[in-house]
Amino acid sequence: MADSGLPSRPKPEETPAAAPAEGGEQSKSASKNAAKKAAKEKAKAEKAAQRAAQEKAQAASQDANDTAKDLYGPLPESMDVLPTTHFSQLSDAHYEKEITVVARVDNARVQSAKLAFLMLRQQGQKVQAVIAAAEPISRQMVKYTGGLSVNSVIQVTGIVKKPEIPIASATLSHLELHIRKVYMISEASEKLPMQVKDAERPPPATTEDASQADVEGAPLVSLKVRLDNRPIDLQTETNQAITWISSGVTELFAEYMLKSGSRWIFTPKLVGAATEGGSNVFEVKYFKKNAYLAQSPQLYKQMCIAGDMGSVFEIAPVFRAEDSNTHRHLTEFAGLDFEKTFDHHYHEVLEFAENLLVFILSQLKERYKEQIAIVQKSYPKAGEFKLPKDGKALRLNYMDGVALLKEAGVDVSEQERFENDFSTAMEKQLGQIIREKYDTDFFVLDKFPMAVRPFYTKSCPQDSRFSNSYDFFMRGEEIMSGAQRIHDIKELEASMLAKGVNPNQEGFEDYLAAFRQGCPPHAGGGLGLNRIVMFFLGLPDIRLASLFPRDPIRLRP
Ligand code: ATP
Repeated sequence: MADSGLPSRPKPEETPAAAPAEGGEQSKSASKNAAKKAAKEKAKAEKAAQRAAQEKAQAASQDANDTAKDLYGPLPESMDVLPTTHFSQLSDAHYEKEITVVARVDNARVQSAKLAFLMLRQQGQKVQAVIAAAEPISRQMVKYTGGLSVNSVIQVTGIVKKPEIPIASATLSHLELHIRKVYMISEASEKLPMQVKDAERPPPATTEDASQADVEGAPLVSLKVRLDNRPIDLQTETNQAITWISSGVTELFAEYMLKSGSRWIFTPKLVGAATEGGSNVFEVKYFKKNAYLAQSPQLYKQMCIAGDMGSVFEIAPVFRAEDSNTHRHLTEFAGLDFEKTFDHHYHEVLEFAENLLVFILSQLKERYKEQIAIVQKSYPKAGEFKLPKDGKALRLNYMDGVALLKEAGVDVSEQERFENDFSTAMEKQLGQIIREKYDTDFFVLDKFPMAVRPFYTKSCPQDSRFSNSYDFFMRGEEIMSGAQRIHDIKELEASMLAKGVNPNQEGFEDYLAAFRQGCPPHAGGGLGLNRIVMFFLGLPDIRLASLFPRDPIRLRP
């Protein structure tokens, strides 16, 4: 019915009830008003339709006259796949050549009806692009390009030119792309919760400072906002560099280990018992039972040694249910672990580990120079990481550290009685003292008191108050704990009892059986990837060195 253009007849249930007889005059004037209103609305709708048709016709004619209509807009599906060039490959050799790049819009600006600028961003690096209306580039194309929404992913084809003056705001300041084609690949249509350029500056010292602005009035984005919007935050030049350095640490760790003949292992993260202390372990449902998330691969690394694997290493998550809201604690972190047999003395393994760290830290400086320089622009306070000049790690005994602190006037009575390990403040102060005295940010303390180490640690044969255990420090904070492990079953059971750990507790049977069945002497260590990155770069918070940090209050994104 409606298709005939006639108003459809109301259905019986829609028929208005007959007006009451006494309201006759009133109802006549009401229906007159309604008719007037309807006529007005009709005229209005007709005008709007006319206008729309005019605009459409205008757009169509503009389109028909747009000399650039195939050179911009949504990426045509039928288009040939063009080989793209990465910003990192660009050099003077590209001058006057046509290239195609896929990048984000860091900024878009219309200068005039005939001129617009884009700042393109690719993994933190920036290149300026310019578009000028000149056949076949039309004014419409210039307008489209200058109006592209920030952070959209686009494909740009253009000629690489040498700018008259270097472009200070671009990373690749000695070249400029003169746009020939620009297509949208993925539009950033939503309003961004923060701007990448604002996240380029370090966050304020405390999360409460969310609304702070810097001296020039530019907004300072709090750490919370950054972490809540991590995919955008990761786009900053600084985070691109930090994540490369983090990747570099694992690359170098694996490289050193594999070159030394060590095997890469993967141990379970779901375990049946909380064998390393029950309080800081996450419990999870495991069908009809409970399971736990592994707090370290310690017992498994040792069982691999008992399995005659000689030297093993692992890169895997470590879970700690510690309610520690500090700058250096996460509830899940990336652990770099190793375990290794030795022939005569645990110092063979200690030296191996010292050389590992010297290798990682010195190679980072060599292979990731550019990234380190980028991070230092944002976090200059800590200064460059100092390595020992002779390429050999500085090794002191724990008690030497206690003596250095005592000399500096620190109360170390608890440490002298072997009751407590160093506090974080003491570690930091010791780091300062050692930096001043030995000119290094990396050092090792050996021979910790037995009282502050776990049950599987071998005590020192010459003095049972101490143990064959060591910690590694960067800028005065712990990045590795390690030790010679007890491989003799009787000694192991006695050590467990002395530490109040019941050897008959569920979960120890397989571990202890490995030693009952014979196991060679061995030592090893556990490092925290996020801490290495944090202290190497002098970052103020471990969350800045973790992709998607987990802490007692953060479980997203
Ligand atoms: P801390 O005393 O600093 O809490 P820890 O003695 O508990 O550390 P270990 O259990 O010996 O540390 O773990 C070995 C390494 O793992 C540490 O040196 C550190 O690099 C890293 N690590 C330990 N706990 C955490 C954590 N909660 N968050 C991030 N990294 C950690």
